[in-house]
Amino acid sequence: MNIKYAVWSAVSKDHQAKPDKVSLSEQIAIAHKRSMTKGWESTDLEYIVPGESRTRYVNLRDAENEIPQLKQMLDDAQNGKFNLLVVFDYNRLRDLLDPVAKTLAAYGVQLYSLSQPVEPIPTETFSPYTSDSESIMRGMAQILSRAQISDIQRKIAYAMPKRILGGLPHMVPHGYIPVQGRPAIIDPVRSQACIIAKDMALDGKSLRQICSYLDAEGHPAPKGKRWYPQTVQGILENIYYAGQVTWLNGQITNDPRTGKRKLKPTPDRAIHAEGKHQALWTLEEHHQLVAEMSKREKNYIGKRAYLFSGLLFCGNCGANMSLHAPRLPGNQYVSPELGRYRCRKNGNSCNVIAHTELFPLVLERLRTALLEVESEKINAISPDGDLTELIDRRNRLTEAYLAKAYKLAEYLEIKKDLDSAIEQAEGKVANLEYERSRQAEKIKHVNFILKNWDDFVESLQTDNPQANNQALRSILTRIIISPGPDVRLEFD
Ligand SMILES: [Zn+2]
Repeated sequence: MNIKYAVWSAVSKDHQAKPDKVSLSEQIAIAHKRSMTKGWESTDLEYIVPGESRTRYVNLRDAENEIPQLKQMLDDAQNGKFNLLVVFDYNRLRDLLDPVAKTLAAYGVQLYSLSQPVEPIPTETFSPYTSDSESIMRGMAQILSRAQISDIQRKIAYAMPKRILGGLPHMVPHGYIPVQGRPAIIDPVRSQACIIAKDMALDGKSLRQICSYLDAEGHPAPKGKRWYPQTVQGILENIYYAGQVTWLNGQITNDPRTGKRKLKPTPDRAIHAEGKHQALWTLEEHHQLVAEMSKREKNYIGKRAYLFSGLLFCGNCGANMSLHAPRLPGNQYVSPELGRYRCRKNGNSCNVIAHTELFPLVLERLRTALLEVESEKINAISPDGDLTELIDRRNRLTEAYLAKAYKLAEYLEIKKDLDSAIEQAEGKVANLEYERSRQAEKIKHVNFILKNWDDFVESLQTDNPQANNQALRSILTRIIISPGPDVRLEFD
């Protein structure tokens, strides 16, 4: 089957303020031009959304009601009228990017962004999960359009209970494919991992054993490259797989470590309903799984996770270093203050450091690194000037042609070169804008931590170590300890 494309053209928030940037007609022209050179077949379908709506949508159905072009586009996609949607950049779809992309994928339609191009894959082999790089680009672009969280949260708080009572979940879990406006369908490939995990857990296998098995058998994990015990536990305890939908009404709190907002569940206000989707296991099995998980937690003496677990590496030999600390009887918490981190090489003698020695060193290094991020200059080079100049030149050229200074052939020849230079400059502007907002986002988080440094330090010492490590991992990848002691932090 050939690639048959349609074009989506909308005004993005950034561009609306600067109307000379990339107009709708220019977007469409660029889309067609690029598609032609790729040899894609045009369907002549163009979906043009001229105005920027200030509304943010929680679900596609609301959006479709207000944006007729969106509904038309999705209907056409469903009816197989095209199999590639060309957009100028992912920002054009903003908050709707993820649901739209997933819905399109379910209809066998791929997304192609002119500004962040990832080549589409042959239509015969396309399935919602084959295009990893596409979803990565999509994920990155989405970070940009994530703003006004509180507004979205407000909408969720209002819209979700209704949606749940209608039998639709707030989030479709691993193993299901979301379908716009309708119950999700079972993903024949990904659901296998869930069923295997359920059977293994009921068979008494540990979460770690389940993870190793799923990794070894090559089952794709919901997030990242590997399966983690927490992920599996989340699946096993999720009542969605037993055919129910639920929404935990929650309180929104600010996480001082990351600056992110967290939804603190208030289970007493939970709303349950019979789902409209097909279950992967029975309600009875679900209750068995939940009982099994809570039994295991009770039997568990001393948590394996501690602050910095999985992050510490030996500067001598590169091996993982782990905590050796007394476990308090009857208390699940291991007190790291009394412990030492050790590299196990050479009969435990390769490298040792006490927590009391390591902790202030890590804090010092972290603060230094964050201060460096803060002072990082946002890319100062600006190609905007080039673009404005090029557009001016093209306008002058057109005026000159209209004033009969050029013959048509001459005019078209010069214009062709200008067009392609403009296209390139526009690509640069789009990339730079993307890079800038990503950096701004990073600096915002860093500033937040630096401003609340004492709270941050305190939360590192008192909060759940697993949550702390998750936050730390979003900032750094490794803490390398050399005898001396010397501590070095590694970032992405
Ligand atoms: Zn070592």
